[in-house]
Amino acid sequence: MTQQSPDDIAERLAGGHLTIDLAALAANWRDLAARAEGAVAAAVVKGDGYGIGLEPAARALSAAGCTTFFVALPEEGLRLRRALPQATVYVLGGLLEGDARVYADADLRPVLSSLPEIAEWAAFRRAGGTGGAALHVDTGMNRLGLILAEALALAGERPLVDSLGLTLVMSHLACADTPAHPLNRAQLVAFREVRALFPGVPASLANSAGIFLGSDYHFDLVRPGIALYGGAAVADVPNPMRPVVTLEARVLQVRDSRSGETVGYGATETLGRPSRLAILAAGYADGYPRHASSSDARPGARAFLHGLSAPLVGRVSMDLVTVDVTEVPGARRGDWAELFGPNIPVDEVAERAGTIGYELLTRLGHRYHRTYLGGADAA
Ligand SMILES: *Cc1c(COP(=O)(O)O)cnc(C)c1O
Repeated sequence: MTQQSPDDIAERLAGGHLTIDLAALAANWRDLAARAEGAVAAAVVKGDGYGIGLEPAARALSAAGCTTFFVALPEEGLRLRRALPQATVYVLGGLLEGDARVYADADLRPVLSSLPEIAEWAAFRRAGGTGGAALHVDTGMNRLGLILAEALALAGERPLVDSLGLTLVMSHLACADTPAHPLNRAQLVAFREVRALFPGVPASLANSAGIFLGSDYHFDLVRPGIALYGGAAVADVPNPMRPVVTLEARVLQVRDSRSGETVGYGATETLGRPSRLAILAAGYADGYPRHASSSDARPGARAFLHGLSAPLVGRVSMDLVTVDVTEVPGARRGDWAELFGPNIPVDEVAERAGTIGYELLTRLGHRYHRTYLGGADAA
């Protein structure tokens, strides 16, 4: 027998396997960059790279040609800076009070979203501080960003604007996943006015879904997130992106159960026929959503093994999921069943669980054995 490395053993013993295809991530970035036509394609890597790992994601995207990245928090920015010393890094959460020096030292650009942040960043730069920043103007989301009246007033204060070292003016779309929503057009019109207030500063409006709204929305730079990771950006249309994340769970046992018996906690589902059930070693402790459970009242998500679909039966437990393999004759102990990936879109599981693919990806647990395919971090 050949010697097994600790990683081999960890892989063998894990209940769940997460396979992350960095080549697919890179291909998705190139695809989106092409759709964005003349605009620069940045990448949003907040939320630990939408759950796949900030550093591996950033390195693979950088190797594909991406030079501009967005994170949510300065802490994520510091991690990214260590992984990519040359990259342009924006911090979407803005400037935290008193920490301008920390941003400047790591060459992190705050996305300035309020007047107090602007005053603080201006004071820092006037006192000799360096570094660029983005300006975020709210055009209809009521989340982060200056309101239009504030942006207008700011634009009238030329010396203040000049002191900020602005490298980007941006806004964020609230409804880009629903192309027919009237707010898209309204935000576009408002953003055109905003960008005219800051001539010469590159402009950015589109997230993933915004890229699919067409070239009007692209401006100088686009900020895709979810589509890079294979998630559906636009609702109710086929998803053109390549899947990046595959989650598989081990079959711990296969059992035969009788018609009329119930399955799992709460006895929420009654078997309508003699059934073969496979018990999988993953559950909500791994971030697999409990809301994807099945009951007599409503079907849950499904798994995929031996080339066939197997519906969940009963509730998702902390460490276990039960699926009906009556029609999967090959199912046996030791098999691996896909919970999402190329055969089961992550957005399908999310929909069954009443949520979105973003949430499933960013909540992926830490018990899974992770394998990276393609790119510098490949196993
Ligand atoms: C998260 C985020 C993005 C990326 O959005 P996706 O829908 O994942 O493409 C872009 N811009 C801002 C301001 C964000 O917060």
